[in-house]
Amino acid sequence: MQAPSLTAQMAEFRAPPGTHDVLPPQSARWERLVALFARRAGRAGYQLVVTPVFEELAVFSRVGVETDVVRKEMYDFLDKGGRRLALRPEGTAPVVRAFVQHRPLTPFKAWYAAPSFRYERPQAGRYRQHHQLGVEALGTEDPELDVEVVTLAYEVCREVGLAGVTLLLNSLGDDACRPPYLGALAAYLAERAGQLCDEHRERAAANPLRVLDCKREACATATADAPRLLDNLCDACRQHFEQVTAGLSALGVPFTLAPRLVRGLDYYTRTTFELQSPALDAAQNALGGGGRYGRLAESLGGPPTPGIGFGVGVERILLAADHEGVFPPPASAVDVWVVDTTGGREATRLAHRLRTAGVACDRSFDGRSMKAQLKSADRAGARLAAIVGAHEAAAGTVTLKDLATGEQEEVPREDVAKLVEERLR
Ligand SMILES: [Zn+2]
Ligand SMILES: [Zn+2]
Repeated sequence: MQAPSLTAQMAEFRAPPGTHDVLPPQSARWERLVALFARRAGRAGYQLVVTPVFEELAVFSRVGVETDVVRKEMYDFLDKGGRRLALRPEGTAPVVRAFVQHRPLTPFKAWYAAPSFRYERPQAGRYRQHHQLGVEALGTEDPELDVEVVTLAYEVCREVGLAGVTLLLNSLGDDACRPPYLGALAAYLAERAGQLCDEHRERAAANPLRVLDCKREACATATADAPRLLDNLCDACRQHFEQVTAGLSALGVPFTLAPRLVRGLDYYTRTTFELQSPALDAAQNALGGGGRYGRLAESLGGPPTPGIGFGVGVERILLAADHEGVFPPPASAVDVWVVDTTGGREATRLAHRLRTAGVACDRSFDGRSMKAQLKSADRAGARLAAIVGAHEAAAGTVTLKDLATGEQEEVPREDVAKLVEERLR
C-alpha cells in the first residue's frame, strides 16, 4: 500500500471541532463591530485592557465551584511545566485578576475584545472558541455606574441596528439578603424535588438559583410560584435597584424586569442583566449580559472592590444582525483599482501615491490583460479604475474610469490623488 502523499494529508486539515475561521467579507463586519465597540466604550472613558488567553485554573475555579462552566466546560490543561492552566472561559475574571495584580486607580474602567473558550459539545451556534466584547468597571457601588454599563451594552446593540433587542434586568441581592432567600428557595424546591428536571432533582440544593433559570418545562412548572428574590431584597439592595431602574428610565433605555434571570457565574451580586434577541433561538437567545460582582477581587487576593461589567458575543450579534438584515458586510474592499498594462511597476508607483494620500486602492499582479484587471476591479467592488497604459506612462498621466458609468478622463499624474478623492466624495 502506498503512503498518502503529503499534499493529500494537508488537504485533510480542518479548523478543530467547535472553532471557525473568519474570512472576508465576514471579517470586515468583525472589524467594524470591534471598532464600533471600541468607539462607544472609549467615549465613556473605558480603555483597552489585554490579558493572556490562558490563566491559572484557580483564577476561574475560585469564582464558583458549582457553576456549569467550572464543572464541565473549562478548557483546562497541564502545560509542559506542570502548571494547571485554563483558556479563558469568560472575560471578567482575567480583568479582575489584572486589576488585583496591578492595583490601578479606581474607578478602573476597562474594555476588551478577546476569544473565550468552553469545552462543550460542538453544535450549531455553540463554539469551543467564541469571541467576546466587554467592559469591566471596578471601584464603586454607585448605581449610576450600573446605569452607565447597562446603557453602554444596550446602545452597542442598537448602533449595530438590532431593533429587536430586549434588555432583561434583575437584582441578585447581596450577602445580607441572598442567603436567607436561598434558604427559603431551597426549602421550596426540596418540597417539589420530584417534579424537577433530571439535572436539578439532585443538584437543586447546591445552587437553587439555577433551577429558576432552567429552561426545561418540569422546572418551569414546579417553580411557577417560587419566592422571588426581587420581593425579598434588603433595603440597601432595593434602594440600589430602584436607582438603577430610575436611571435607565431617565435615559429612555427600555428594560424588562426578569426575576428569574440568573447569570451563569456565582459571583454576581445585585444588578444582573441580559440582552436577548428574538432572532436567535430560545436555547441561545442571549447576545450577552453581565452584572455587578462584590467579592470577585477579594477572592482573587485583592482588597474588597465592587465591580460591574458585561460581555457580548461577536458571533451572536452578527447572527442576530443577519436575521434582522442589518450590519451587512461592506460592498467593496477598496475604492480604486489601479490598472497597469505596461508591466506592473507603474501600478506599484501609482498605488503607493494613492495609499499615501489615504485612498484605499488595490491592483493586479502577474502582468494580466486590461480586461482581466478590470474584472478584478469589478469583483473588488471598486468605484474607480486608475489606468496606466503605454500612452499614459509616456505622457505622465492617468486615465480615471468611473466603473459604474464607464465615463473616463485623462488627468495629470500629480493631481490624481486629489481628483480621486473628489470623485469618491
Ligand atoms: Zn431544571
Ligand atoms: Zn441585600
